[in-house]
Amino acid sequence: MTDTDTDISESRVALVSGGSRGIGRAAVLRLAQDGYDVSFCYQSNELAAKELENEVADLGVRTLAVKADVADGDSVRAFIAETEQALGSIDVAVTSAGITRDNPLLMMPDEDWHQVIDVNLDGVYNVCRSVIFEMMKRKSGSIINISSVAGVYGNATQTNYAASKAGIIGFSRSLAKEVGRYGIRANVVAPGFIETDMTAGLSDKLKKQALQSIPLRRLGRAEEVADLVSFLASDRGSYITGAVFQIDGGITL
Ligand code: NAD
Repeated sequence: MTDTDTDISESRVALVSGGSRGIGRAAVLRLAQDGYDVSFCYQSNELAAKELENEVADLGVRTLAVKADVADGDSVRAFIAETEQALGSIDVAVTSAGITRDNPLLMMPDEDWHQVIDVNLDGVYNVCRSVIFEMMKRKSGSIINISSVAGVYGNATQTNYAASKAGIIGFSRSLAKEVGRYGIRANVVAPGFIETDMTAGLSDKLKKQALQSIPLRRLGRAEEVADLVSFLASDRGSYITGAVFQIDGGITL
């Protein structure tokens, strides 16, 4: 066995979809700090992906950035295959890629409905479908799917987004039941308002309203969500599966 083989067999590998920005980016960095070799996919911003690759490499672990569209099964399969080839079998999969296209249902263009479901829900399906067989063979794995409090409680103007995020919860709970006997855990993280590009575009009025209904009186940070992801990925979360963790400053109380 060569040194490289030894490295691959002993290292732990995490994969993050939508890793170049926001919550996904924070998860990439946090998992790298935890000692995982980390691969992530990005949609278009190659420069941001390269910068993150360098940041992760500085932490002393191996990394791989792959351009991939999570809504496209072939693209995701290629991303997973490249990861396995470069880093080894995947121990942890985090699905963070997501989009919003908000509109009241009355004005919802069909295209926005389908695009949100394709990226947010098909995206989770595509990643989980592609990693599950190897995890089953190895009888271990931790999957963490990023949903939203909108998927639990609903949110006006977000019928498409909430449906996709509620779908992720049903999907993950079913998967947890299916693969628990293979030592695989599947959990959901459901953030409230987190400071990322996704919430940067909200109007000041909406942000002010949100702050008033958040008992902790601030938006969350991507790093705080990444901490929870890190916990669920690790053996500290070894008896947790099929659970939905809200991380929302209390907004849903
Ligand atoms: P963000 O917009 O900062 O990042 C989203 C990431 O997804 C980006 O890296 C983007 O490139 C990637 N992405 C989008 N479409 C893609 C596609 N088709 N293929 C591959 N990658 C794609 O958003 P964020 O706030 O970091 O959101 C991350 C996840 O957290 C999303 O699933 C989002 O729905 C969820 N979430 C966010 C908040 C929040 O307040 N920010 C709240 C609840 C849930």
